[in-house]
Amino acid sequence: MLGINYSDDKRIFNTHTDGIPFLSADLLDTLGVPNLFTTRFISYDPDAGEGEKGLRLAVMKNEEISEASPVCRKNRDALARQLGSSISMECITDQKHTNYVHVASREDLGVPTVGNFALHRHYVDGVVTDIPDVLLTVFGGDCPPVYIADPVRKAIGLVHAGWRGTLGRIPEVAIANMAVRFGSDPADLYAVIGPGICRDCYEMGDEVYDVFAQQWGEESAERIFSKYPARDAEGHEIPGGKYHLDLREANRLTLLRAGVPEDHISVSNVCTKCNSETFYSYRSGHMENEQVAMMVNRFGTK
Ligand SMILES: [Zn+2]
Repeated sequence: MLGINYSDDKRIFNTHTDGIPFLSADLLDTLGVPNLFTTRFISYDPDAGEGEKGLRLAVMKNEEISEASPVCRKNRDALARQLGSSISMECITDQKHTNYVHVASREDLGVPTVGNFALHRHYVDGVVTDIPDVLLTVFGGDCPPVYIADPVRKAIGLVHAGWRGTLGRIPEVAIANMAVRFGSDPADLYAVIGPGICRDCYEMGDEVYDVFAQQWGEESAERIFSKYPARDAEGHEIPGGKYHLDLREANRLTLLRAGVPEDHISVSNVCTKCNSETFYSYRSGHMENEQVAMMVNRFGTK
């Protein structure tokens, strides 16, 4: 379905092919929290096994904002409506690869944006809210979203976790905000790490390993990085080699550290780069659009 190559458990994300196709996290579906993660497809034709691609959702760098923004907002509204929400309830981030998290207020909702971003909202990569029916949106083209849900306090959080946000433990920052502002107990939280680049695809410079080792400690850095050997033209191992970062495991460790129970965490094994026919992927050279992750603060029964 949609040409996704699942390496392991197909039950972590469900596939929806009516309307604009998307994936939804099974764990959040079970909690009755409307959620999605988009693909490159505008529509899906089950007979053809694929469909039209290229729905504009995210305004990209160096793009004419005044032209792209209304189109992206209109398309995100169509997506939001598939979750029973609308763009008038949307609160978004401007995504500067920070670990800053914003607590949504009613003034944020549906604010006309410059690019993807509300004019007055700068330098946040995550949002949390306990306001009913608020729609949170983050963008990503390899960086996984992390969805957080508190069915007890009826609050949610959504963060963009590229390597810098992951280094800054952005899921833990979101959870700290939820604890302070909404009274969330981490033991009640559920979290999903969405589709994003896998370890095999995510080669990093030594300096990235070094900064993790400094801030997380050598032991944690050893756990989330693997050194892949360098090979010559014949495939023989030669001196050198490159670090690869496991963003999924890094964010899973952060969620555990923040107090989320292990059996409340679900991790997608879908790689956006391995599946670059289905997803936008920076590392595959897609600079024209990104995926959208959305989540609505509504708890119901499936
Ligand atoms: Zn991959």
